[in-house]
This record gives sequence, C-alpha cells and structure tokens, in this order.
Amino acid sequence: MRHIAIIGSGPAGYYTAEAAQKQWGEDVRVDIFDLLPVPYGLIRTGVAPDHQSIKGVSRRYESTAQLDNVRFVGNVTIGEDISIAELRDLYDAVVLATGAPNDKPAGIRGEGLENVFGSASFVGWYNGHPQFAKLNPDLSVRTAVVIGNGNVALDVARMLTKTTAEFTGSDIVGHALHALEKSRIDRVVILGRRGPHQIAMTPKELGELAHLARGCPRVDPADLPAMDEDMFLEPGQRKSVDHLRSFAAIPEEFRCVKPVEIEFDFFASPTAILGEGSVTGLEVERTALDENGRASGTGQTYTIPCGLVVTCIGYKTSPIAGVPFEENAGRFANDEGRILPGLYCVGWARRGPSGTIGTNRPDGFGVIDKIAEDIGSGGGKAGRPGFDALAEARKLDVVTFRDWKKIEAVEEKRARDGAPREKFVDVGEMIKARSD
Ligand code: NAP
Repeated sequence: MRHIAIIGSGPAGYYTAEAAQKQWGEDVRVDIFDLLPVPYGLIRTGVAPDHQSIKGVSRRYESTAQLDNVRFVGNVTIGEDISIAELRDLYDAVVLATGAPNDKPAGIRGEGLENVFGSASFVGWYNGHPQFAKLNPDLSVRTAVVIGNGNVALDVARMLTKTTAEFTGSDIVGHALHALEKSRIDRVVILGRRGPHQIAMTPKELGELAHLARGCPRVDPADLPAMDEDMFLEPGQRKSVDHLRSFAAIPEEFRCVKPVEIEFDFFASPTAILGEGSVTGLEVERTALDENGRASGTGQTYTIPCGLVVTCIGYKTSPIAGVPFEENAGRFANDEGRILPGLYCVGWARRGPSGTIGTNRPDGFGVIDKIAEDIGSGGGKAGRPGFDALAEARKLDVVTFRDWKKIEAVEEKRARDGAPREKFVDVGEMIKARSD
C-alpha cells in the first residue's frame, strides 16, 4: 500500500489524486489536505464568479473525491497543525499543490496606500475567500486602474463593470454584489507595459468586453501594429489582437450610450502610486519595446488620476520553512516536480502561475510518474492511520468530504434567486454549517 498526502485541494491537487488512482488503483490511499474547510481552491475562490462553466470542472474533482481511497482532510493548516517533516514521516510521498496565493509585488512606491490591492485579495474579495472577505474596497471613486495585460486583469475589469442583471447565474458573494451595485466607477484603465501583440489575454475572455451592458472597450488605433504584422502571431494571439482591432474601430456614437469606459493604455509602465492615505493617482512611464521585446522606459511620464488600483501582475507560492524555494520565480525549487526525497510539488507551486486549469492535469500525471519511479514497489509508511492518531492526539477538527457536502447543501439553499450558491465567507460559519 502507498500513502500519498497532497497539500491543497485545487485543480492540481485533485488531478494528482486522479493520477494516483489510475496508477495504483486499490493499492494507494490519498489524503488531500486543505487549510479551509471547503475544497477546490482556485476553482472556488480564483475563477471569476461569472465563469460558471469553468467552475463546473469541480464535478470531475468530486468524482475523484468520492472514491473510497481518496479522502478530503479540510481545516488543517500545514506548518501549524502538522509540519511537513511530520507528513514526510507519515506518508510515502507528500505533494505540495498549494498554488500561488500571494500577489507578486509591483515594487513601486505607494503600494501600501489605501484602495490599492493585489489581484489575490481583490479576486478573493468578490469570490468570498475568508481571508479577503472584509477587504471593503472603496468603489465610490470614478476611475480604477487595473495593472497587467493578462486574463486576471480582464476578470477584474469585467467585475467592476457588470450590472446586477449580468451577475445573474453567477456565484459572486452578496457583499461584493451589493458594493458593486453602488459603485460609481465609470472609467477602468487597463495598463499594459508592452503592446497589443504582447498581451497575455485569451480571445474568449477579451471578446466578452464587447458584450457588456454598461462597459465599452476603447483601444487607441495608434497603439496597434501594422495589420500585416499579425500574420506572425500564433492563431490564438491573432484572434485576441483581432478583438483589440475591433475595439479600436467602435464608433464614438455607440460608445456614448455605454456609461463605463474600459480603456486600454498600452506601452505604459507604472512607476509610482500617488496619494496620502488613499490612492489619488498612478504615475506612469511611456515605454517602447527593446530588441528583445522587453518594455523599456522612454523617460516620458504622465499621471492617471484614479481612486482605485488593482495590480494583476502574477502570483507567488507561499514558502514553507525547510522547503527549498526559488524566490525570483515565486515557486518551490524542483526538478520536474521533485523537491527532496519523498517531497514533490505540482501545478502553480511547481511551475509558477501560468496556463489554464487543464494544464494542471498533465502536471498531476507527471508527478505521479516520478513518485512511481521513486517508490517502486515500496511504500508502506503509517499513512492515514498514523495521521488520524496524530489528529486525535492534537484534537484537530478535521472537516471531511461528507461534511463539505453538508456545507455545500446549506450554501445552495441560501443562494439568491438564479445563483448556484451563496458562499460562506467565514471559516467558523462553514464549520457550523456542517451540523445544520
Ligand atoms: P499573466 O497571464 O502572467 O499576466 C500578467 C500580466 O502582468 C502580463 O501582462 C505582464 O506583462 C504584466 N506584468 C507583470 N509584472 C508587471 C509589472 N511589474 N508591471 C506591469 N505589468 C506587469 O497573469 P494573470 O493574469 O495573473 O493570470 C495567471 C494565469 O491564470 C494565466 O495563465 C492566465 O491565463 C490564467 N487565467 C485564466 C483565466 C481564464 O482562462 N478565463 C482567467 C484568469 C487567469 P509582461 O507580459 O510584460 O510581463
């Protein structure tokens, strides 16, 4: 029997559990730990609440979770309730699938001002992550700047623009919906330090901006490269640039009927966030691309007056004491998923915050191949019974998958009309709901 501990119940964690089941069938026991009492990580608190079809992938994880030899061990904090060293003693393999929950800092003056947020906290706020539920952003301002040209920047810009009706069918949490209903924001600037050909936005997500009830995208035609240069792009990127070209061609009279402008400001690198107490502006330097395609400052600066800044410039994994970490890349130091004997990583914790949800599946299967090579026909550590004895001795209040199904049922029952669920945003309330 092999005993595998997976730390993190997001996509990478569940794909790894699925791979372990395919590899060893009845000869493996998998425990999936999470610090929250609820599973699915990024699917629950990262994927945009209006992207329910993407969130639907959790049904696949549920079928893995309900296998007899796979167990959800919620409400357990690694490093506090149990250490990595203890887990390595108990399990034949420990796989860190902890994602990348921390914002990469922009490294500019003013990041600590009020109403300046990283996307981890801002997305966590509208998605009901307990850590960020009380963020309380001030949306009484007129201009928001979203820094970054990736899909998270698009998510944030869309959330700031949608009407209540457009959130029908989403699982945006009540506190965020109410705050957005009262928002006075009528200009969202999406700041990119490079140009239209260098965006990290995918066509479907970019195309959504054209169909917003209140928002209208604006692209300055002067920022677009000559049309014939598009043929050097790979097909997906070409489609994204097609969208930008169509935004640039929107006639002014159509734009006027939509009250919120979503303005792309390309070749613009943030240099300082201005204000005293709260943010009042963003200082930006115009850039040009150097011969390697990198943004290089031109020395020309200007200020965008704004009352809200959200940086969407990537994430970092949380380091764990005693586990080798690559500070620059913001992930665990690893060789194809191997960190130390018996210790592995997968997903964003392995490769950094890139790719789609599906990219984590081959990652999960890859790391299980490595574990299979390393364990061979061995294994046989204490595993589950060992952890259960330790949990009992430490009086840990473990939340099981069955408990989660009860929490889920209460969340579904208290959903507003048309919504799939109203999430609990407080860990205590989640735990209480399992006995409702
Ligand atoms: P991302 O795709 O890596 O984009 C980060 C953006 O931030 C890039 O445009 C980057 O510009 C910019 N940036 C980085 N450092 C900067 C700085 N110091 N100043 C200004 N700009 C800076 O990251 P993400 O948007 O956080 O997304 C993470 C992953 O999740 C991606 O793989 C994404 O596709 C995925 N995701 C997918 C969906 C979806 O499919 N619906 C939704 C959300 C997220 P440079 O290119 O110049 O570095």
